[in-house]
This record gives sequence, structure tokens and C-alpha cells, in this order.
Amino acid sequence: MRKLADEFLPDLHLRFILDRYATYSGSDPRKAPAVLASIAFVEESFGAWHIKGGLGTLATLVHQRCVDVGVDFHFNSRVVEITTEKGRATGIQLADGSFIAADAVVTNADASITYNALIKGNTTKLRKVRRNLSKADPSIAGFSVLLGVRKDESEPLSHHTVLFPDDYDAEFNSIFSSKTPVEKPTIYICAPKDDAMTKDMTLESWSILVNAPHHGVNGFDWSNQEFNRTYANSIIDQIEEHGIPIRTRLESFSFRTPADLETAVNAPGGSIYGTSSNGARAAFMRAKNRSPIKNLYCVGGSAHPGGGLPLVGMSGEIVANAVGGARNVQPLRN
Ligand SMILES: Cc1cc2nc3c(=O)[nH]c(=O)nc-3n(C[C@H](O)[C@H](O)[C@H](O)COP(=O)(O)OP(=O)(O)OC[C@H]3O[C@@H](n4cnc5c(N)ncnc54)[C@H](O)[C@@H]3O)c2cc1C
Repeated sequence: MRKLADEFLPDLHLRFILDRYATYSGSDPRKAPAVLASIAFVEESFGAWHIKGGLGTLATLVHQRCVDVGVDFHFNSRVVEITTEKGRATGIQLADGSFIAADAVVTNADASITYNALIKGNTTKLRKVRRNLSKADPSIAGFSVLLGVRKDESEPLSHHTVLFPDDYDAEFNSIFSSKTPVEKPTIYICAPKDDAMTKDMTLESWSILVNAPHHGVNGFDWSNQEFNRTYANSIIDQIEEHGIPIRTRLESFSFRTPADLETAVNAPGGSIYGTSSNGARAAFMRAKNRSPIKNLYCVGGSAHPGGGLPLVGMSGEIVANAVGGARNVQPLRN
């Protein structure tokens, strides 16, 4: 990516914008392949879309569609083992001790958890996939600040605002080398004009995201709540330094660290996008959708084609077709 910028973009601001696309997949622009610049083409050609009510509405509607076509959901049921027999997946063991037999198992847990924790035993079939996963760099994690602010018509913010620091490379050094929170991070503010996202029409809901090193071993320890609160406040200070008032309009304030994300969805270290695209070969290190274990399929950000909602959606489509194809079943089109 960086070589592409060196070749085509003498303007510093354009270079910052190009670098930003590498971070969309949780990667370092100095190592990520230039193909990620195609995201700019996708944004320009197809636009960026907002779902009324916020992104959670997508989950609600997908859930409803699944219910309509006969899918059963078992929420809050942690899978502790994917059982196998003679190199085939046979079902799942839940934390409450129950066992569900299955013709096909689709795992949306992080691939490293699937292969290193959920599948027990040292099967030779998994030697290569485990080796590849151990070589992959975790992607960037994220520190989010979630704000409810009173509307101020004299200070309207665009739906998307990105505030760049003076030294963008310092951010990548912090995240990928020293593994410390970025002192002056690039700050993304999402401020949708969507009354369905607030408790009343006098308010706006802002979601602020800065890139962060992942939590835990070989990363940063995000468990110190006092530090986290100070860090969240320093992000608000930096936004206000750009002339965007917050504290005078503040109704509610909370933050989520990479450690919170790990706890909430079992994403190792709170890495948002599974593994990064650092290096030309990174894509080949990701878990394949069809596992070497028969009848087992991997879906989601840590599997092919990678992290971020569009790719995760493609991953779901590939797996649905693979499972259907193996059973000669066509997708429902109504
Ligand atoms: C703050 C933030 C901002 C983001 N912004 C963007 C963006 O602007 N654009 C974009 O494209 N992407 C964005 N992403 C990334 C995007 O959300 C992820 O890439 C995507 O959600 C990953 O989907 P997934 O299905 O792989 O994982 P998840 O959405 O994490 O789903 C995995 C599910 O599996 C469940 N699970 C895990 N282990 C088990 C187990 N053992 N038993 C039972 N259930 C289990 C988890 O509880 C979870 O529900 C953002 C992410 C964050 C955190």
C-alpha cells in the first residue's frame, strides 16, 4: 500500500486517506498489499449505506428471515467442543453438558479458537492449519467511545468524520510495534442523523472509534478501568481541540475496550477483524471455509475472505453454498 502511495500521491492528506483503507481490514499500510486500495473504488462506486435504526437492525432482520424459513436459535449457549470421529465433524458439545449431533457444523468462532480449543486432540489433519494460524498477525483492535449528545443545529457533524493526527505512522508504530494505546490516534466519528437510534428527537447518538493494540499476551493489558476512562477522556479532549464541542452537550458516555470485545464475543484480544492482511501471503494463512475436517465449515472474519461486514457476508454465502452444494440443496430465493 505504501509503495502505491509513494508512486501516485505526493499530497500528504491523500496519503493519509489511502493508508486508512489498510486499517479497514485491521492492517498496517506499510505491510498490507495495495489491493486494499480497491476498497476506495467500492466506496466511490457503490456508496456507503446506513441502515435505519443502526447496524443492529441488520441482525434483527437476518434473525427474522431465518425464523421465517424455519431456523431454530439457541441463544447464550456456549459451544465447548466440536466433536469429531474419523476426521469428520459429528456435532457440538455445549457448556451445559448437552450434545447436539449434526450432519454439518458451521463454526463462527474465531478460527484459532475453533482449531486450538474447540477441536480437541492432536489430529494430523490439522497440523498445517494450526501452523498457518499461529503465523498470522492479529488484526488491529478498537477502543470505542459511545456518546449520547444533545443536537446542536449550529454545529452539525457529517455522518462520517475522520480526524487525522499530524503523524500517522506513530499510530502504526504504537499498535504494531510498541503495542501501546495511540496517544494521538486517528479518530473516526459516526454521527448518523437517525432519530430511530436515540431515545428522543433532541438527541444524537455518536459512535467514536480509534484503532488500538489487541488485549492480552503480546498486546496491551486493557483491564485497568482507570486508565481506560482517562484514555476515553483524552479522545474527547482531542475532538474538542478540533472545534467540535462535546462536554457541553453530553447526555450519556460509555466506552468499550478490546478486553470488553474479547469478553462479549470471544474475539481473541478484541482484534476486530480476526487476522490482519499484513504481507502479501496473509490471505493464504486464513482458515479456509471448508475445513480439513469433513462436514466442518468456517465462517466469519477469521476465515476466508477476511474481516469486516462485507467480507463476513461473503464468507457466509460461500459457506451456505458449500453446505448446500454438498447436499444438493438450492438456496431459497423468495
Ligand atoms: C467497534 C467496531 C467497529 C467496526 N466497524 C466496522 C465497519 O465500519 N465496517 C466493517 O465492515 N466492519 C466493522 N467492524 C468489524 C465487523 O464488526 C466484524 O468484522 C464482524 O462482525 C465479524 O463477524 P464474525 O461473524 O466473524 O464475528 P462476530 O460478529 O464476533 O460473531 C461471532 C459470534 O460467535 C459467537 N461465539 C464465539 N465463540 C462461541 C462459542 N464457543 N460458542 C457459542 N458462540 C460463540 C460470539 O458470541 C458472536 O456472537 C467493526 C467492529 C467493531 C468491534
